[in-house]
Amino acid sequence: MVTSFASLVVGNCSPFDNRYVTYCVDNNRACPETLDCLDSWLAWSYTELMNGKWVEHGPWSEALPSRSSKGGKLIAGGYRGILCVMRGDEKFVQKAFHMRVSWVSEQVCWMCCASRVRDSLNLYTYFGPGATHRLSLISLSDFISDISKGCAWIRVPGFQPEMLFYDFLHVFDLTMVPDAAATALVELSEDDSVWPGQSVDDRLRYAHVQFVKLCREQKIRLSESVILARWLMGITVAIAVKRPDDEHAQLRAAVFINAVAIRQAVSLSHGPILPPHCIRKLQTANYLLHSAINWLAQGAIAAGHLRWKIRPKLHKLDHICLDQAPLLSPLWTSTYGDEDMVGKVKQFAMMAKPHLLGRQVLLRYASYVCCRWLRQLEGQKG
Ligand SMILES: [Zn+2]
Repeated sequence: MVTSFASLVVGNCSPFDNRYVTYCVDNNRACPETLDCLDSWLAWSYTELMNGKWVEHGPWSEALPSRSSKGGKLIAGGYRGILCVMRGDEKFVQKAFHMRVSWVSEQVCWMCCASRVRDSLNLYTYFGPGATHRLSLISLSDFISDISKGCAWIRVPGFQPEMLFYDFLHVFDLTMVPDAAATALVELSEDDSVWPGQSVDDRLRYAHVQFVKLCREQKIRLSESVILARWLMGITVAIAVKRPDDEHAQLRAAVFINAVAIRQAVSLSHGPILPPHCIRKLQTANYLLHSAINWLAQGAIAAGHLRWKIRPKLHKLDHICLDQAPLLSPLWTSTYGDEDMVGKVKQFAMMAKPHLLGRQVLLRYASYVCCRWLRQLEGQKG
């Protein structure tokens, strides 16, 4: 597990220039208490940073001799760091917060009481600002008593459940778009009206070649969901135009039109705070996307097809668009940068001795970042 903290105001740059790795742990050599201990130190550090002054005692009130002469003095000349957002993949959140709710529990969301029980008024497939579960948003006291079994983070002054963001990368780019794309590819390759070929395999191979060509033209890595959604939007809209009476084709095109609109609305070019017209566009596209997928899913269930899957993560897209986007841009606060950095940190971990992994990774990371910044400073002088 790799954890880091990043600046919210410095974006659109290499992940090595706006974030720091705080710890790296080999999961096979760590127990829950190991992570709790590390998180206690981090929560204590963030509290100290929020005060802007050194403290003389550690997280368990123990005296820290190395701090005896620093106690009460300013850390950074009066500057403070405020913890305002936490995010990660679901496995991280489950471990760090000891969640009682997960994607397999009856309650599937830590921000509201959305449920997977079929006849519940809070069923997670209901969507939009009028959905019943919107009236059950979790308060801090609910979070402490019903959602988390206890962790260091809830002791950070000012902590609120709203600070624990759902991650746009994992919810939208890695789940919603691939799920919808998989179903669309199955439907579009049923006959040779879209891609030529004798069999489904031939037609899918043809589609793959076409998609790879498009990615190369756009100079984007394979499986980039933006290109995938845009490519399928072009194909499905063309079919919908040819078949104006085919409701299924119209709503299938609506899924990809609105997926592309969501991606456009959260563009990084808007910075950390989205302008009001982008928030409106995002929320409208999200509502239409849910409407279209729900209609398609009902049709698939009635026909006995395992298509147009709706999983709890789609409900989380509602929270991203309705609750989080008005505060901070979902793409700006997503884990995209972290995923890039984790690749490099894993290389450091591969070179480390197993029993010294945490320490050696941090030392190598610190050396790497210092050399990188030194080169940049020397470049600026030159
Ligand atoms: Zn919810």
